[in-house]
Amino acid sequence: MKVLKFGGTSVGTVDSLLNVKNIVDSLEEPGIVVVSALGGLTDGLISTARMAANGDEGFRQSMKLMAQRHFDIINTLVPRERRSDVRQTVAEFLSQLEDIYMGVSLIGCLPDKVLNRIVSFGERMSSIMVANILRDAEHADPLDFIKTNKEYGRDVLAAGQTRSLIRERFAGNLPRTVVTGGFISRDVYTGEITNLGRGGSDFTAALIAEAAGAEVLEIWTDVDGFMTADPRIVKDARVIDFMSYPESNVLCRHGAKVIYTPTIRPVMEAGIPMRVLNTHNVAAPGTLIGAEAPTDVAGVCGLACMKDVALIMCRCNGASEGRMRELSDLLCKHGIETVCGGNSLGTPFIAIKDADADMAQKVLRDYAGSCHADGQCMPGFVGNLSMITVVGHGLDKIEGLRGKLEKSLADNDIEVAAVNHSANGSEDFSEFFVPMANSNDALISLHACCF
Ligand code: ADP
Ligand code: ASP
Ligand code: MG
Repeated sequence: MKVLKFGGTSVGTVDSLLNVKNIVDSLEEPGIVVVSALGGLTDGLISTARMAANGDEGFRQSMKLMAQRHFDIINTLVPRERRSDVRQTVAEFLSQLEDIYMGVSLIGCLPDKVLNRIVSFGERMSSIMVANILRDAEHADPLDFIKTNKEYGRDVLAAGQTRSLIRERFAGNLPRTVVTGGFISRDVYTGEITNLGRGGSDFTAALIAEAAGAEVLEIWTDVDGFMTADPRIVKDARVIDFMSYPESNVLCRHGAKVIYTPTIRPVMEAGIPMRVLNTHNVAAPGTLIGAEAPTDVAGVCGLACMKDVALIMCRCNGASEGRMRELSDLLCKHGIETVCGGNSLGTPFIAIKDADADMAQKVLRDYAGSCHADGQCMPGFVGNLSMITVVGHGLDKIEGLRGKLEKSLADNDIEVAAVNHSANGSEDFSEFFVPMANSNDALISLHACCF
């Protein structure tokens, strides 16, 4: 059995859905198919909700366009004998959605709980549609088996319950194809609809693959595989044939958006191979992600870029790991997530999202009091940065690589706010923090040094 996940880029149009149908209908083994909402729909659901909450009557027109997109696909692709049932189911979802939008526009605000409900309609509609477009497919409701609970106010996966519910749902003889929606979930205690975070359909697929014991997890998207850099920025980025789980984990964690980071862990722990494939070019072999091949050959695997980061740097002499941990706990208590931490030429730093900059600066001002009392200086703050990360194995052994990377940035007059080299177990990478305005140039020039 294999699990195949098709993202919004694969289920956005009639043509791409026909490709999905060709891929799944020709499977020779049972397949569990996980689908995202139609491409761009989640963003559309969110922006329409904001319009409604802000009293912008345009939400009605936007809602109509989203509805029409679904009906056009149903009318073209669902076989005639099932069409009116599917149209009716989707119309019921759309009518519930419309009621919620009306409510939001009446009360003029958009609580998280309501937004979670709104975005869930994307996957609820697409999965019903895809199940009826494919041959001999059954539909499974992800809200029955993907469960979350609240931790410090955030929805996090209820891993144990989810695993047993998936096993129960997919036990025994599977039909040829089962289709389910990615991304969405239900709170174990309150029954509220929640989700696994933006891009979370990959994670749903990995959870199913792990719990149901799939032989392989296939992530079908709109590029030929996991590439050496974001192909939208680096035009000569190449497909990576093979990468290890830790390499993919580090690249995703550092901004390679092709796979949602939490996806890697369940498949890595279960040793399930993962393939990244192109729905629009099935002949391309794609990327295989698996256990590390024992090799002494050092090499760069790829580069990732994360925009909108800020740095908190402790330039003070003797700033210890303990102090950084204290600072990071303090940020966490104020709801500020640490992107990563490290040490740039002896200066410890914590990277956070730029969106948290104002709050972080307030926290730092309060913290300054205790720093002064201890005779220490206040941590410095640099915002508006991009973090570019070179990931590989044995990077230290590649003669002159680090110097070459630093020189290429200097040659392009790109200032480096911090640099952090880390070789920790199977994770080996170098992070460069550069002004956001230079981020594309920096990525292109660092990529050119490596490939
Ligand atoms: P999906 O809808 O299939 O989940 P995503 O938009 O989430 O698709 O991810 C695929 C996109 O990720 C590609 O279109 C590509 O532009 C972008 N991307 C960013 N970094 C990389 C990378 N290193 N390799 C491949 N694609 C990347
Ligand atoms: N539809 C959701 C999103 O756009 C989940 C996903 O596509 O993976 O974030
Ligand atoms: Mg995605």
